[in-house]
Amino acid sequence: LRTLRAGRAAMIFQDPRAAINPLRRIGDFLTESVRLTGTMSAADADRRAVELLDAVGLKPDLLRRYPGRLSGGMLQRVMIAAALMGDPVLLLADEPTTALDVTSQAEVAALLGRLRERFDTGLLFVTHDLGLAAAISDRVYVMYAGRIAEHGPAEALFERPRHPYTAALLAATPALDAPAGRLSAIDGQPPDLRRALTGCAFAERCRHATGIRREQVPAQQGGHPAACHHPLEGSRTDG
Ligand code: SF4
Repeated sequence: LRTLRAGRAAMIFQDPRAAINPLRRIGDFLTESVRLTGTMSAADADRRAVELLDAVGLKPDLLRRYPGRLSGGMLQRVMIAAALMGDPVLLLADEPTTALDVTSQAEVAALLGRLRERFDTGLLFVTHDLGLAAAISDRVYVMYAGRIAEHGPAEALFERPRHPYTAALLAATPALDAPAGRLSAIDGQPPDLRRALTGCAFAERCRHATGIRREQVPAQQGGHPAACHHPLEGSRTDG
């Protein structure tokens, strides 16, 4: 696993304060993966750490500081730099902006987009923020109850959602220019995943459920695929 983490795939966690050891200096944290696997000498690891701190907009003197001296936004940049240490093929970013204030969220999201291009790295970005998903992703996978409900190019998926869950999520997104009134919500609760799911996992909450083949797990079908027996066509609402 260490070899995998140091070279192929790296993870950026949601809350950098929970993921970075507060008792170790930033330099130790940054170089740990390549030191433990022996993929770089200590001198090369230090040089790479300085280069990556610069890439994420931080000064090299942070290497000797402890995490408690840094803000949440700075720590998340350190986390991103640590993830890039082994030159990974894939970055897994699990809600990397959720624990940050709004300004830091925008900065970190923009930074990830730039770094992805500069280091030619794939980015799997997990988020509950649909606007962020639309802004940062080429391709979006909408998950419900552990299954892929729908996937496709970001633009097509947001313009023409085909799965009722995607459409309901988009309808529930507040807009600043929307007329005053009650916000749209998805009735009901997610299914209890301790029980085996039969049929469509969204059926209990779906306005389009007909009962037809409700007991069958829907197969992915259509232009951009949706796991639904009755996918929506040409609409942005779940009406
Ligand atoms: S399969 Fe039926 S219940 Fe499930 S999302 Fe599609 S329309 Fe709704």
